[in-house]
Amino acid sequence: QARLTWPLMGLLRVALDLQTSSALFARIFEYLDLTPAISDSPAAVPVPSGPALGRVELDRVGFAYPAAEGEPAEPILREVSFVAEPGRTVALVGPSGAGKTTVGYLVPRLYDATSGTVRFAGVDVRDLSQDSLRASIGIVSQETYLFHATIRENLRYAKPDATDAELEEAARGANIHDTIARFPEGYDTVVGERGYRLSGGEKQRVAIARVLLKNPPVVLLDEATSALDSVSERVVQQALEAASSGRTTIAIAHRLSTIVDADEILVLEAGRVVERGTHGELLRLGGLYARLAAEQSSERADAQPA
Ligand code: ADP
Ligand code: MG
Repeated sequence: QARLTWPLMGLLRVALDLQTSSALFARIFEYLDLTPAISDSPAAVPVPSGPALGRVELDRVGFAYPAAEGEPAEPILREVSFVAEPGRTVALVGPSGAGKTTVGYLVPRLYDATSGTVRFAGVDVRDLSQDSLRASIGIVSQETYLFHATIRENLRYAKPDATDAELEEAARGANIHDTIARFPEGYDTVVGERGYRLSGGEKQRVAIARVLLKNPPVVLLDEATSALDSVSERVVQQALEAASSGRTTIAIAHRLSTIVDADEILVLEAGRVVERGTHGELLRLGGLYARLAAEQSSERADAQPA
């Protein structure tokens, strides 16, 4: 079985932004002559609406990426459990390689858990239609893909029937409207690879505007501000708060300052949850989280101008 390469994972993330994700997924896999590992079960149902709509649950989840022929599959996640109640925020922190992004792949079912169960709105994700599952999740990650098209079209991918007024409202909510208004041709400016180049922070805010347009019950933020300088981080952080407000949020963070208010923080190390609690509880525990927090506050102190 061929292993997915990082650029392809980037494409998959793009697909996640789209309402019509499955068609695009199918095309990517067709192009690469791979069989999609994940398909809808014959009895798949749409994500049920109701009070559990925004609940995300991992129940003793274990995971290994598909290994090459004859090689043992290396466990990446072991017995990971948490419940994100509707509207609440669960944060995942921990060293690089701990498995945080992988958790983020299991929720929209880019991969199936090797053991245990992932539930969305109370239903095992293997029993949900992928279209409705992916339409229920908004993603902001480190790289935002922009199509070579106008900024208006790039936003409208998230909601094809959005009116101009809705686009502008989402752009304002994401702190990007004023920036777009200053582009050479405003919302009609062509962006992307060969078009007008947006900065990292601007692209992030486009991704956030897409989430606001899509209006999903659940958002997944994977190190959304970690590549930004501190000024753009602040602007993007404000926009992220708009995106996460009223929605279940799974926040993967490198900078702990962005997740101090999370309802629960899980500290992942080598695929295991080694600590969990609120920011205050974890500081008092004096373990890995407290150590990471101390390291980061001394880095910040070093970065202060003299
Ligand atoms: P984190 O986000 O915490 O830095 P990841 O979830 O990205 O960690 O990665 C966890 C482990 O899984 C790492 O050892 C990484 O090399 C491995 N990994 C990530 N993606 C793949 C993949 N597509 N195929 C095989 N191994 C992968
Ligand atoms: Mg990661």
